[in-house]
Amino acid sequence: MNPRDARVVLLGLDGFPLAALGPDRTPILWRLGGNGGRASFTGIAPLPSTTYPGFATLLTGCLPARHLVRTTGLRPGAVPGWAGRQDPAVQTLLEICAESGRRTTAVVGDHLLQGVLRLGEATIWPPGGIIPAGTPLDAHGYPPNEAARPHLLEAVADETVELVFGHLNETDTWGHDLGPDHPTTLACATAVDAIIGEVVEALRPTWSHAVLIVTSDHDMEAPSPLPPIELRPSEPPLEGLVQSVTVDGGAALLRPVGGASVRAVRAALSNTDGIHLVEESGDVMVAGAVPGRWFAGAPQPAGGFHGGPATARTLAIVAGGHPVVPRLAAALAASPPHLADWGPTICGLLGLPARPMDGADLAA
Ligand SMILES: [Zn+2]
Repeated sequence: MNPRDARVVLLGLDGFPLAALGPDRTPILWRLGGNGGRASFTGIAPLPSTTYPGFATLLTGCLPARHLVRTTGLRPGAVPGWAGRQDPAVQTLLEICAESGRRTTAVVGDHLLQGVLRLGEATIWPPGGIIPAGTPLDAHGYPPNEAARPHLLEAVADETVELVFGHLNETDTWGHDLGPDHPTTLACATAVDAIIGEVVEALRPTWSHAVLIVTSDHDMEAPSPLPPIELRPSEPPLEGLVQSVTVDGGAALLRPVGGASVRAVRAALSNTDGIHLVEESGDVMVAGAVPGRWFAGAPQPAGGFHGGPATARTLAIVAGGHPVVPRLAAALAASPPHLADWGPTICGLLGLPARPMDGADLAA
């Protein structure tokens, strides 16, 4: 079968608690992964392991150093500014599809993703990225999964759509408010599992050429009782090396002063309590906290939070009747995929023109 014949449904489950994945709490996902494939140790997300960098990576196939969506939310002066952009600096999969005359739709439980990911007219819900009046909202102002569900099923059932991007937000809200292990958060994961079952049913008429990819953007962890990590550019050990810092949960972005050596910044950070690793992202450096720790300046976590290396893990499940699925399954089993791998993989499945991307085509 020509790869161009594939229909791709790409689902992103925001903050899906990976501890919930298993035959008891998520039997449908578990079975899908068993029949198709799933990564044995989960997939990999970039740092900060937060929503906007995660989904920008998923939909561009590029790392934050290239797409420049390096943190979630606006940080005036930093974003937009030295730490990056509000929307990707490169084309998204949906934009590449549109340019090639391919039909796409998006349904996003976090309506703000419509702007962040430049989903534009592909967004069938919420229309124009605006939540319809009368829609119930959670404590963070997002619609619950139940509000997005019928629109997602409608998108999947429309056989003329070649790429569906669906985002379900609610596990993230419960994980933040109550923690990733709370019964309500776990019950939400089970409810998401049931929606995935409905997606599979809606895909049945086109199953023979369908590829269903289920991902998430980050995991969620409980905060440690230790105090937040303070990074002050004007004080030792960062004084004279770093001019600005902006934080995103368990990760921090640092802007070195002109001429400061990367090695010196690394050395200063390695002497800072609570820091697990330091990475370069273009001209910005990223510090990741040890499990449970977060950076001062980020909101005090309630039940759960993310951003650091401990939550840079994603769901990675592939299913469907398309003949390429066993090959994708074998790739997932061989090594955990990075979120950036799905972009080139989907470009290959849909026969889209190649773009410079950082991920690898998992079917190659
Ligand atoms: Zn998220």
